[in-house]
Amino acid sequence: MKEQHIQEWQTKGLISDKEVIFDVNTFNPNTFPENPFDYIPLIASKEGIDKLHPINHGKEVAIIGAGCAGLCAAYELMRVGLRPVVYEASERIGGRTYTHRFEKDPKAYTEIGAMRVPTFHDTIQWYMNRFGVRRRSFPSPLKVPTVIYFDRKRYDVPAGGELPEEIQSVVQHWDALINPIMESLDSLKDKPVEFSKKWQALIKKYEHKSIYQVLHEAGWSKSLIDSFGSIGAGGAGFGPFYHQVSFTEPLRIMVAKWWGEVEEVIGGIEQIPLQFWDTEVETDFWGKTSVKALNYGQTRKGVVEIETTEEGIYLTDAEGRLDKYETVIVTCTPRNLEMSIKINRPTFSEEVWNAIRNTYLIPGGRICIRTKTAFWKKYPELISCTVTDEPLTHLYLFDFEDTQSGVICLSYTLGITAIKFDAFDDHGKVENVLRELEKIYSPETVKMIREQMVEEPVCFSWEEAPGYNGSFKMPVPGFNIDDVTLFSQGKFKSDGSKISDYDTHPDVGVYLAGDCVGWSSGWIETALHTGINSALSVIYKLNRDQKEM
Ligand SMILES: Cc1cc2nc3c(=O)[nH]c(=O)nc-3n(C[C@H](O)[C@H](O)[C@H](O)COP(=O)(O)OP(=O)(O)OC[C@H]3O[C@@H](n4cnc5c(N)ncnc54)[C@H](O)[C@@H]3O)c2cc1C
Repeated sequence: MKEQHIQEWQTKGLISDKEVIFDVNTFNPNTFPENPFDYIPLIASKEGIDKLHPINHGKEVAIIGAGCAGLCAAYELMRVGLRPVVYEASERIGGRTYTHRFEKDPKAYTEIGAMRVPTFHDTIQWYMNRFGVRRRSFPSPLKVPTVIYFDRKRYDVPAGGELPEEIQSVVQHWDALINPIMESLDSLKDKPVEFSKKWQALIKKYEHKSIYQVLHEAGWSKSLIDSFGSIGAGGAGFGPFYHQVSFTEPLRIMVAKWWGEVEEVIGGIEQIPLQFWDTEVETDFWGKTSVKALNYGQTRKGVVEIETTEEGIYLTDAEGRLDKYETVIVTCTPRNLEMSIKINRPTFSEEVWNAIRNTYLIPGGRICIRTKTAFWKKYPELISCTVTDEPLTHLYLFDFEDTQSGVICLSYTLGITAIKFDAFDDHGKVENVLRELEKIYSPETVKMIREQMVEEPVCFSWEEAPGYNGSFKMPVPGFNIDDVTLFSQGKFKSDGSKISDYDTHPDVGVYLAGDCVGWSSGWIETALHTGINSALSVIYKLNRDQKEM
C-alpha cells in the first residue's frame, strides 16, 4: 500500500489533500487498514520530512520520552531546523528498546524489550541502513534446530524444518480460516474504495470478538485451539493473547502482510535509538549537528506536569524546572501518562482520556542467563530453541561474534504466562524454568546449564517496571474505537482541518506518539511511524501559527 496506492486513492478523491502526496496527516482512519503511507520518500529526502519547510527555524519543541518514537521525531525535527528538547524519566536512552550488557562481559548482552527486526518493516530497515546498523538472521523457532514440547510430547525439528505432521493440522485450520478473508481483500487491491469498505466491514465483524471466540465459532476443538495457542501457524503461538486480545490483531498482521523473515541487531538493538541521538547530520539551518548536541549532551529530567494554557504549554520536570513550549510530543505509554504525569483536563478531549484509560498493555517477561560458552554449538543434543505449552513458553539461544560467552533467554512470556512468574524472585524464576527443562530435555542439560551459568540472571517483568506497567498495547474486543481515537489524536492536515471525527478537540499543540498510539503495537516500526506523524503535526502547527501572526 505504498506510493502507487496513495496516488490512486488521491485520484479517486479518497485523500483530499492533493498537493502533498506524502502528507501522513491525510490518513483517514475510517477508511484504511494500517498505515498506507510510504514513509521512505519523506525520511530519505535531503531537505527533511516536510518539503514546505518550517518557517520557525530554531524554535524549541518538547519531546517527552527518549525511546524510538521520541528520538525519531527529534531527529526529523532537527533535520528541518527545529530544536528538539528531549525529556527522559529514566537514566537510559532507548525505552523499550533496551539492551542489557552483562557486567563481567559487556560484549555479551540480552535484549529486554524489542529483539527482532522484521525485514518487511521498511522504515526501521531504512534507518538501520542509513546508520550502518548490522543485522543477521534471528535464531527463530524452525529457522534453527527447534524442540517443540507440546502436550508433554517432544518433537525435534531440524533447522529450516516444518512443523511435525502430528500438529500440522493447526496450520491447515488456520489457512482455511484466514485465506478466504485474505483472498477477498486481495481481489480488491486495485479497487481502493471497495477494498476500504471491505476492510471496514471486517473490522465491524471482528472488533468485538477475541481470537478465542473466532476460532471457537469456526468449529475448532479445544485441543486444536490450545495447539494454535502454543505453536501458532509456525514458530509463535497466540496462546497468552486468546481471551483478552481482539481478532483484529492477527487480522491486521495478516492483511498488512506483517510476517516473514526477522533479524537480530549485531551488537545490540539499543544502537537504533542511540543512533538517532548521536548521529551527526548536515542540516540547512544548524549545519552539522546531532540531537545530542542540540540537547547539550544530555536529556532533561522526566516530566511530572503538563499544563496547556492560552499562552502556551508549560512543562515541569522532576527537578522542578518549568519551561514553556508551543508544541509538545508525548511518547510515554498511555498507562504512564495516566499514572505518572499531572495533566490539566483540557489538554485532551474526553474521548482521548477514555482511550488512554482503556489502553491495555499486555504483561511480558524475560528470564536470561549468560553462559561461559555457547555450549549448544558443540553439544546440540543438549538444548535447542524451544517452543512449549509449559510456562517458559519460548527459549532462545544467542552467541556473539566477539566473545565466547553465550546467552540463553530461558523464557520469553507474554500475557497470563508472564504473570505466572511474577510471584517468584529471580532465583525462583530460574529454578522454575530449570525444572521445566529437566522434563523437556534431561538432567544432563540442566547440569550443563548450572555449570555454565555465570553472573546473576537477568529477570525483567514489564508489568512491574516503573513507568511502563506492561510491555505493549494489545487491542481488546470492544475497544477498536479507542485505538482509532488515539491514532487520530492531534492529526490535522497542513491547512489545520481535522482528519477524523473521532477526536473533536481543538489543536492545543500536544501530540501523542509512541507504539501504543499506532495500530499494531509491540513494534519499533509503529513507534517510528507515530514519531514521524507527530513531527509533521508539530511542523504544520508552527507554520500555521506563524502565518496567522
Ligand atoms: C517484551 C517486549 C518485546 C518486544 N519485541 C519487539 C520486537 O521483537 N521487535 C520490535 O520491533 N519491537 C518489539 N517490541 C516493541 C518495541 O520495544 C516498542 O514498540 C518500542 O521500543 C516503543 O518505542 P516508544 O518510543 O514508542 O516507547 P518507549 O520505548 O517506551 O519510550 C518511551 C520513553 O518515555 C520515557 N518516559 C516515560 N515517562 C516519562 C516522563 N514522565 N518524562 C519523560 N520521559 C518519560 C520512558 O522512560 C521511555 O524511555 C517489544 C517490546 C517489549 C516490551
